Amino acid sequence: MNSPFREPAKSFAADFVDRNDRAFITLNDSIFYFGELGVQETRTAGLMTSILERHGFTVQRGISGFQTSFLATYGRGEPVIAIHTEYDANPSNSQKPGVAERAEIVPDAPGHCEGHNTNAAVMITSALAIRYAMEKFSLPGTLKIFGASAEEQLLSRPYFVRDGLFDDVDLAFHDHVLDKFGTDYGIIQSAAISAEFTFRGETAHAAVNPWKGRDALDAVVLMDVGLAQYREHMKPTMTMHRVITKGGDQPNVIPSLAACWWYFRDPTAEGSRALFERAQKIAQGAAMMANCELSIDVRAAVWPVRLNQTIAEVIQGNVEAIGMPVWTEQENVFARSLQQQAKMPEIGLRPAVLPLKGPAIQIAASNDCGDVSWKVPMGRIWFPGNVPHLPFHHWTAGAALATSIAHKGGLVGAKALAASVIEYFQNNALVAQTKDSFKNELGGVEYKPLLPDDQRAPAHLNHALMEKFRPQMEAHYIKAEPEFTL
Ligand SMILES: [Zn+2]
Repeated sequence: MNSPFREPAKSFAADFVDRNDRAFITLNDSIFYFGELGVQETRTAGLMTSILERHGFTVQRGISGFQTSFLATYGRGEPVIAIHTEYDANPSNSQKPGVAERAEIVPDAPGHCEGHNTNAAVMITSALAIRYAMEKFSLPGTLKIFGASAEEQLLSRPYFVRDGLFDDVDLAFHDHVLDKFGTDYGIIQSAAISAEFTFRGETAHAAVNPWKGRDALDAVVLMDVGLAQYREHMKPTMTMHRVITKGGDQPNVIPSLAACWWYFRDPTAEGSRALFERAQKIAQGAAMMANCELSIDVRAAVWPVRLNQTIAEVIQGNVEAIGMPVWTEQENVFARSLQQQAKMPEIGLRPAVLPLKGPAIQIAASNDCGDVSWKVPMGRIWFPGNVPHLPFHHWTAGAALATSIAHKGGLVGAKALAASVIEYFQNNALVAQTKDSFKNELGGVEYKPLLPDDQRAPAHLNHALMEKFRPQMEAHYIKAEPEFTL
């Protein structure tokens, strides 16, 4: 294949990606069938780290207390450039790839329904391409690859930043699946605090002597009512949503333990913190009314995602050089049938790269890489590995993730990511210019983690659910190993 680049190191990296397309596909599809939930991505992280180690990276596993997170390092000295991405799946989204109707691989099992499997394959493939380009062209600097577990619970990256893992990083890249090939700049996602409120009371027979019980479920209900009343008075930018995670065992036993899990969001870190503080007061009031004890566990706390304009321009240049994959009629037909199933406009796949637009429009969703983006200048590559208009976390958004759509979209993403990082390793002035533009973009805002200093990573999240389905899911694992070669 002809390289889209004239520059030798970029051209070498693009050729590396093309030569290793089978390995990329095997890795992408393997992680798709692992379908592992956040904090339980043991097979996924195991496969990623073994590949990196085999190709000369030094791997640190279990960073910041997350057993399925890792940091893999290659090279030495400055600049220090990081790539990070997520690879977790979601519950109840098992879907056979290439099938445009609801067809589960394993009934009710977890599955990828966004494309985080391709995020991982893109990161690993580009990491290897960059690493071999650094060696061949004697590029100085350090490449750091961060495996960020449990994005769906907004978990790991604020811990990495809080624990100093980004202190020596000059700039960072995030790769994420979408239907377009390109990037954005500006503040794009919102801040969020995720916290579980646990109430403890005392059991009693609900018919014989209920006056002896202290009902923890009452406290959950009262907190719910309190926050529902408060909705009227919150700022229109704020949003909050919840599930009740424990509500007792059976009606004739007054529950001594009840819990609810809330997300509090706002476009600013300050707004999300203010909403959470209000919720804590309401929870305390509910505990007092129900005569229960309250404990609060902050599961996650993330800043909004901001994307640096200079990095965005570098990414866009490389994306435009590569161009959109050429989609076949068959791929377009499949895309349109998924769009039909999702009751969305049947436009098929995007035919071309879009120009870089002005500052992004901030949306209410969040991503745990937000904290990274206030610590160091960060860019994001969107690669076209999924179908336009499909709602993420719906089965339709899982159906293309181990097909030629994800493969072709991921391969161009890996080339663009490798080329953009190589451009920085070759140009120290560009690194300095990017850091200056980042300083200007921040204005006077000082980054302080929303995550409490003493918050520990939750090791058992999703454990039971994953163990329940893993034996049936194992039958569908891909037997081949991804073999990357120079
Ligand atoms: Zn995602």
